Amino acid sequence: MKKSHFTSDADVEPPSQESEPPGRMRRLAKLSLAKQPISPPRCTQPFLLPQPEQSSPLAAHPVRSLISFKISSRSRSFYKCFYPHITSAEWNDWHWQLCNRITDMPGLSRFIMISENESKALTHHAGQLPVSITPYYASLIDGIDVTHPVRRTVVPAYDEFIPSPGESSDPLAEDRDSPAPGIVHRYPDRALFLVTGFCFTHCRYCTRSRIVGNETKDCYMQEHWEQALAYIEAHPAIRDVLLSGGDPLTLEDESLEWLLSRLRRIPHVEFIRIGTKAPMVLPQRITSSLTRLLKRFHPLWLSIHVTHPEELTPEASQACGRLADAGIPLGSQTVLLAGVNDSIATMKELVHGLLSIRVKPYYLYQCDPIHGSAHFRTPVEKGLEIIQGLRGHTTGYAVPTFVVDAPGGGGKIPLVPDYVVGREGEDLLLKNYAGITYRYPDPGGTVGLK
Ligand code: SF4
Repeated sequence: MKKSHFTSDADVEPPSQESEPPGRMRRLAKLSLAKQPISPPRCTQPFLLPQPEQSSPLAAHPVRSLISFKISSRSRSFYKCFYPHITSAEWNDWHWQLCNRITDMPGLSRFIMISENESKALTHHAGQLPVSITPYYASLIDGIDVTHPVRRTVVPAYDEFIPSPGESSDPLAEDRDSPAPGIVHRYPDRALFLVTGFCFTHCRYCTRSRIVGNETKDCYMQEHWEQALAYIEAHPAIRDVLLSGGDPLTLEDESLEWLLSRLRRIPHVEFIRIGTKAPMVLPQRITSSLTRLLKRFHPLWLSIHVTHPEELTPEASQACGRLADAGIPLGSQTVLLAGVNDSIATMKELVHGLLSIRVKPYYLYQCDPIHGSAHFRTPVEKGLEIIQGLRGHTTGYAVPTFVVDAPGGGGKIPLVPDYVVGREGEDLLLKNYAGITYRYPDPGGTVGLK
């Protein structure tokens, strides 16, 4: 079921938090900065459909404070069918989306015909990554086709329970390289700061499935943030901090503001990055108030986790446009997944779509060997074949770097197709994108010698 990209009708998002009087959201954020777990808003009743007689609190806000946000015709049809009692403002409210995440079989079975394989996985899920899908992201799923790429990435399959050699719950040995809560310090001048274990939507191939969705994990208390910040402060070599998780954009604006302000007060932190999938799974999170907040902390870059061209909806386009307009450089990170995006045609469509929404394709990752990931992993040659099918065949900016994150904590290792044919006398023989051999005068060189 293919979607037309960038065709939409405009709609509204709820009022920006900055124009809002102090209320629930501010109270939640303040609570989260006290001695409480720092976390996104919790919902005691996930997947609760508003009843017809309930009035929407958002409807009470004056129209003048509403800011245009797109709803694609596909999403509109979806919510009118499955959530007939909500308003477009509620659909565009990221808190509403968060509170109505689909987390179990009864929830999923409202939208999709669950296959036997999926049903077995859903009833056998103890100890595994829980299911979590925002209603917006559910609107991208094909309810009938079990091979649908977006569906495969978020609906569990029984294959997750089949172990294979070399798999691990922490294949990148991040826990081993963690000198303070939430900190992974592997490269001298960079630190990874896992600020939350919470995500909007859970990817079935998640490298951090050991922590994602595990709300009992205690490393996201403010005192642990303080310990992590103290570690960064005490290590002047760290000039670059990557906020990740979980998804940092699940935090309330006020929590993010507090964290970014603290990082910006550390003189040696020159550069802040945030890794997020929000623009793809909950583009409504990219509110005007969020972009106003983020632009105060430049230089700040965003790495967006993107998987498939079907994610590049009008909503995602608008979210990325807002971030780009705020001067935030955007790069993509894509995991190569068997049967999802492992073809040159799919990847070309994805990278072209990304460039058109001002996102530079940055990394293409070989899928990490987490437990039960064999059905997602491709041979490494597949990634090289895709890079070879892009390099020279399309815009250079569209070509990501293909990397293997070395199991055991070796870090990212870039792999490139081999364009060196050999040497003849003083000439280096090179093959171009079309497979034609050329000579380059390279007296005394050793490249290409066997
Ligand atoms: S968005 Fe990232 S951290 Fe969250 S579930 Fe997906 S892969 Fe894991």
